[in-house]
Amino acid sequence: MKRRSFITGGSALLAGSGLGVAAAAPDAVGPGFDREFDLVVVGSGTGLAAALIAASEGLSVLVLEKAGVIGGTTLVSGGVLWVPVNRVMQREGLDDNRDDAKRYLTRLSRGQASAEIIDAFIDNGADMLEAVERHSPIRWRVSRFMGRMPDYHAEWPGAMTHGRSVETAVEAAGALGGHLISLLYEGCLAAGVEFWTEAPAQRLITTELSGSRRVSGIQVRRGTVTQNVRAHRGVILATGGFERNAEMKTHFLRGPSPYTLGAPGNRGDGIHMGMAVGADLRNMNECWHLVVYKALAEAQGHLAGGAGLFGQVDKTQPGAIVVNRHGERFFNEAGSYDASWQSFHT
Ligand SMILES: Cc1cc2nc3c(=O)[nH]c(=O)nc-3n(C[C@H](O)[C@H](O)[C@H](O)COP(=O)(O)OP(=O)(O)OC[C@H]3O[C@@H](n4cnc5c(N)ncnc54)[C@H](O)[C@@H]3O)c2cc1C
Repeated sequence: MKRRSFITGGSALLAGSGLGVAAAAPDAVGPGFDREFDLVVVGSGTGLAAALIAASEGLSVLVLEKAGVIGGTTLVSGGVLWVPVNRVMQREGLDDNRDDAKRYLTRLSRGQASAEIIDAFIDNGADMLEAVERHSPIRWRVSRFMGRMPDYHAEWPGAMTHGRSVETAVEAAGALGGHLISLLYEGCLAAGVEFWTEAPAQRLITTELSGSRRVSGIQVRRGTVTQNVRAHRGVILATGGFERNAEMKTHFLRGPSPYTLGAPGNRGDGIHMGMAVGADLRNMNECWHLVVYKALAEAQGHLAGGAGLFGQVDKTQPGAIVVNRHGERFFNEAGSYDASWQSFHT
């Protein structure tokens, strides 16, 4: 990966997790290091896909998780993955094509993603799904969430009304994030991935090599002890967003965003660790949002999950009209939750 594309977000990490890797030769733990692995993954949400595939390809892998439980926000999510031109839909008799997917994604990114990133997302997603299926108990199917899951802007050129959203195949209905994480975790354990929970990563360790600086490991706190872990093949930062960091939200987002359903530990640590070694940032002014009822959200504090979903469901009821303080409509109430929230900031 080029330094410039170092931090690109969780979905890109998932799509890019088909690592073409081979086991590194065993090496002595270097001076100043307490343990060594080929790969260290920081964060146990979508990062588990990278851990799974790397370990299945023969690398020794450590996952560091700040919380006491595995899964992050991904654990409580709907567990639906949006992967254009995937072969799961082909198995179910649905067709997609690359040009449509690119047209749709290019408009969706509003100039904030390079063609290189969009191409990488489209070209690696299907392989990622297959690799996860090959190395874990996961079996994918086209999502049946709410019956049929269309693209969020089904009215745009290149969109599909069915097929690009996939989920784990299971009898249960509803949010499948817990299922996704438990099966990824099962696959990781079978592949020999080591997990350290209550282990917040603190900083990347770098080494000078032939005039350039490279990441050689990571410093992590375990209880009262600080340990340095060597990572021969690299460190993957999958520490989620900055939804629990009020200062970052003030600096980077276009308007107030006080409530969150994200994991309690998501304070932008990985972004800070990347910045500290010179990573460039992009796309920091975007995030994924729901419209909530302020009074309910404030009454329930950070546990405002129910409030958030009521706001979304109510506004999309047939006949619902949302107006601003001047009594004027300002968005399409039937639109996706994220598009609705963007209208508030606009
Ligand atoms: C209710 C809900 C439903 C959703 N449904 C969907 C859906 O169906 N489809 C979809 O695509 N998206 C969905 N989303 C969004 C999606 O869940 C998130 O974008 C995604 O899970 C983020 O994954 P991640 O791996 O980047 O972060 P996370 O899953 O949050 O994982 C980050 C992990 O990093 C850990 N961490 C943070 N700092 C450190 C540190 N210093 N050291 C070690 N560990 C650290 C955190 O504790 C956390 O466990 C939903 C979100 C919510 C809240």
